[in-house]
Parts: sequence; structure tokens; C-alpha cells
Amino acid sequence: MFKAPRDVAFSCPCGTIKGHIRGASPSTGTHIACFCADCRAGDVFAGLPDPSPEPVRYFQTTPDRLHFASGFENLSVFSFGPKNLLRWQASCCGSPLFNTLRTPKIAFVSIKSSALEDQAAIGPVRASAFVPNPAGTPKHKGMGRSVWAALSRIAAARITGRWRKNPFFDAETLAPVRAVQIVDKDVRARIKASLG
Ligand SMILES: [Zn+2]
Ligand SMILES: [Zn+2]
Repeated sequence: MFKAPRDVAFSCPCGTIKGHIRGASPSTGTHIACFCADCRAGDVFAGLPDPSPEPVRYFQTTPDRLHFASGFENLSVFSFGPKNLLRWQASCCGSPLFNTLRTPKIAFVSIKSSALEDQAAIGPVRASAFVPNPAGTPKHKGMGRSVWAALSRIAAARITGRWRKNPFFDAETLAPVRAVQIVDKDVRARIKASLG
């Protein structure tokens, strides 16, 4: 099913942070569902209910497609460890909205699909990570294709220099534009223990 790329508005739940993704479509990003403990713990740490048994759904794309119209100053960032994903949170209403890596050189962002005004634009979920498996370890579905798509986008952004357009990192120092709050190991352990 081909969907022409179009600009898709996003906002945090309270509407303070607003913007759009330029040219969002199933070909410019991947709609994924993540069942992992860190994504669940991220929501709980931010004060939201545990999403389980539902996954957290994201649209993975490159950060140069993100345009903020208002409220950017309300973004804060936390992480579950010194090398873990950066989880960008709307401090106005608490909701985690974006995940990035720790360097802009790898042009990757995932935005919660629930933050998108027009979720149909990104098509159905194409891949699932850490799907609970009663018989043993969690399973991934369709992740090979989604990882390959992300790597192709990252490579293209690297070659064209588009990786430099990234609202989450300082253009000069390449450091995150906010101080990263590292969640205390004990707090993380307590949240994870509370997840069923
Ligand atoms: Zn996850
Ligand atoms: Zn908000």
C-alpha cells in the first residue's frame, strides 16, 4: 500500500509542545511496536500507567524531518544508564515523546505514534520488538526489515550531511541540548520489579 508522504502534526498530550514531521509515510520511516521493559519503565518513570499488555508504538525516522512550532523549551531528557537511549519527555505534562541515540551522527529518532495527529499517514505497525512469548524469551517480528530501513536512512543522512539537522543536539558540540538525567539504578530496579 503506497501512501504519499505528507506533513503530519504532532503534539504532547497537553498541547504545549507542537510541531510536525515533514513527509511522514511508511517509506520515510517505520511504524514499530515495542514491548520492552525499558519502554514500559520509561512511561512509569514519567508518571504514566504501565502500557502493558499494549506495546509502546513509535514512528522511527530521521531527526531532520522534525520541526517544532512551539514548546520545545519544555523538553527534558532522561536515560536508564550512561549509555542507554535518550528518552525525551514533555515536562509540561510528563509524557515521553521521543527516543534518540546519544550522538546526532547516527540520524535516528522515534516519536510515539500516539503523539501524531494523523496516525493513518504512517501506515500499520510493520515490526514488533520484545513480543512476550509464554514459551520462553521474547520474540521480534519483522525487526530485520525495520533495522535495515533505519540503517539505510542513517547512511543517507550521513552522506548528504542531513544528520547535522537535529533539534536534540547542539550543532557545534554535538552534545544533547539538555542535561541528561540518569535514572538512579535503584529507581530503575524498583520500577522494573513493579512491572508484571
Ligand atoms: Zn522498547
Ligand atoms: Zn505537554
